[in-house]
Amino acid sequence: MKKKLVKQVSTFFEGCFNAEPQHIFLSPGRINIIGEHVDYNDGFVLPAAINKYVCFAVSQNEGTQCSLVAKDLNDNYSFDLNDELKPVDKMWVNYFLGVLHQLKQRGNLKGFNIVFSSTIPMGSGLSSSAALECGFAYALNEIFELGLTKEEIALIGQKSEHTFVGVNCGIMDQFASVFGKKNCVIKLDCNTLDYEYHKADFKDYTLVLLDSKVKHTHLTSGYNVRRQEVEKGLAVIKENFPEVKTFRDCTEAQVEQVKQKLGDTIYRRCLFVVREIQRVLDAVDALEKSDFVKLGSLMLETHDGLSQNYEVSCEELDFLVDAVRNDKNVLGARMMGGGFGGCSINLVKKGTEDELIERVSREYKAKYHIALEAYKVKIAKGTSLYKK
Ligand code: ADP
Ligand code: MG
Repeated sequence: MKKKLVKQVSTFFEGCFNAEPQHIFLSPGRINIIGEHVDYNDGFVLPAAINKYVCFAVSQNEGTQCSLVAKDLNDNYSFDLNDELKPVDKMWVNYFLGVLHQLKQRGNLKGFNIVFSSTIPMGSGLSSSAALECGFAYALNEIFELGLTKEEIALIGQKSEHTFVGVNCGIMDQFASVFGKKNCVIKLDCNTLDYEYHKADFKDYTLVLLDSKVKHTHLTSGYNVRRQEVEKGLAVIKENFPEVKTFRDCTEAQVEQVKQKLGDTIYRRCLFVVREIQRVLDAVDALEKSDFVKLGSLMLETHDGLSQNYEVSCEELDFLVDAVRNDKNVLGARMMGGGFGGCSINLVKKGTEDELIERVSREYKAKYHIALEAYKVKIAKGTSLYKK
């Protein structure tokens, strides 16, 4: 799959620029095993890069002309390196310009030609956007020897999304795309960027993503409202327990004790956060012990918390999780990402994936008249130069 993508992109590059590309880079999408909506709540997350990639064919030139060709969109964009960079109407271009804007301040650049194409579905919550930003930053860092660290590349990707795209995302997506390691998950502290790799050998089990193909519009408003709710909640908790500085050092018992003061909604939001932070730690422990039954049940608990207490799921995602809840071949499932659409992530017995996908697709189609898409994913290494 990777080879085929590389071949297609290289061939396309030759067609566009009448020469072979000098370099090929691959930048992966990502999953998150557990730890949802805690990146901005002082928790840990447990993401991993996957074997779906944006592939970049890149050559530098001696001038200052830059060309970007988006093969999948059959679109392109050219500009001069000395142009003042501002967000443009073509949204995909902004991921690049936002990165370039920062890189121009970091070193001497020259013109370049790029063709890119991807196997990461766009807008399904697998972070095609982070793969794009970070892959581009990584490529320019290599060819122009800018000396950026991986952490800087991830931060540049995030900032590009904040400033040129207008999405106020956390750092998890970019970090996972750049720091991904084969068969390892990353336990990441989103506050400090401290991280640890943990082996993720699921033995007889494997990961399957079921893409609901829906994206409800209240994603952004829902996200902003949740952020305000937990901020208010934490303020009340801190007032009553001065020893608590962040959600990380708050216990479930403390949340219970101020239940009345929080009011029902904020109480449930805080309860979810405190429990989710603990679940990530328990999940790492379960992984270390190869206790996949435990890991699966934690994933289901996360889903139920996101659905009932944090209220960021939707009918379709609940349906996908309920459809596998009692399947003996599925140890766990949950909605993944910000919510209100996107994919569910499932821990499935190897060899039973197709049967599962076929059944759930049929049931989902009957109920919602939507063709489900399923992705069997493997945990792969982060953004890198592809050795030809
Ligand atoms: P996600 O990151 O979950 O896939 P986003 O909405 O954050 O979803 O990012 C998707 C956007 O990234 C697309 O709308 C497009 O602008 C850009 N993008 C992603 N993949 C590609 C691609 N293969 N070609 C062109 N643009 C892409
Ligand atoms: Mg994105």
